[in-house]
Amino acid sequence: MRHRKFRLDRFISLKTGIPKSDIRLLLAQKRILLDGKIASEIHAPVDYFSEVCLDGNILQAHQPYYLMLNKPPGVLSATQDNQHSTVIDLLLSAGLDTRIAEQLHIVGRLDLNSSGLLLLSNDSQWSKRLMAPQQKIDKVYEVVLQNPVTEECIQAFSEGIYFPYENSTTLPARLVRLADRQARVTLQEGKYHQIKRMFGRFQNTVLSLHRTSIGAIHLDPQLAPGQYRLLTEAERLNAGDHGTSSHF
Ligand code: URA
Repeated sequence: MRHRKFRLDRFISLKTGIPKSDIRLLLAQKRILLDGKIASEIHAPVDYFSEVCLDGNILQAHQPYYLMLNKPPGVLSATQDNQHSTVIDLLLSAGLDTRIAEQLHIVGRLDLNSSGLLLLSNDSQWSKRLMAPQQKIDKVYEVVLQNPVTEECIQAFSEGIYFPYENSTTLPARLVRLADRQARVTLQEGKYHQIKRMFGRFQNTVLSLHRTSIGAIHLDPQLAPGQYRLLTEAERLNAGDHGTSSHF
């Protein structure tokens, strides 16, 4: 979701039909509030989250939302789909207000059969900052495999694996063996089916894949599959910190 910025006079004119040329008078009469304060600047920027009131009537009051969901396998990371139930359907059945749900976008998808931490927001600036490739934030996954994890595989993950389809090599990834057929993988990017394809190179099928963290945000252990909660202020503000050094 992209949020456009408007100038105050244009925004009010679009919302109310009042000609732009008349807005200066409304400002002089102190009839317009922008984010709770009397507006004085005709060109003040108005974005998706600005609160704008005219004569006490709210013209816009969008609130930013930041959620974490414990996505179960079998639910699609999409807002709409004809075939599968989506994470938005799940949020609605978990009690989220429709007016909020319909504003949300997904911040870093998970495959249909993957599970775990999924972030959703209506604040595209925040999502864009968090997921910008140059941010290189750690995404951590726990993986169950068909075959044992080999030293060769650990080495290849750390060096990067060439994918001819994209003509690119994966960034160094950390692969830590947790048990014979269980591992923790840390990626700083998100190519299509990346972990499955990386293990696929070693003829090792991924049986389950569960994301436990994105940057400094960890999946809340209190959330059962299918449950969600709002992010705390600290999670929202510190999300871009890597926050995973304790794993290695
Ligand atoms: N890698 C995958 O293969 N699938 C995911 O859902 C995430 C990372």
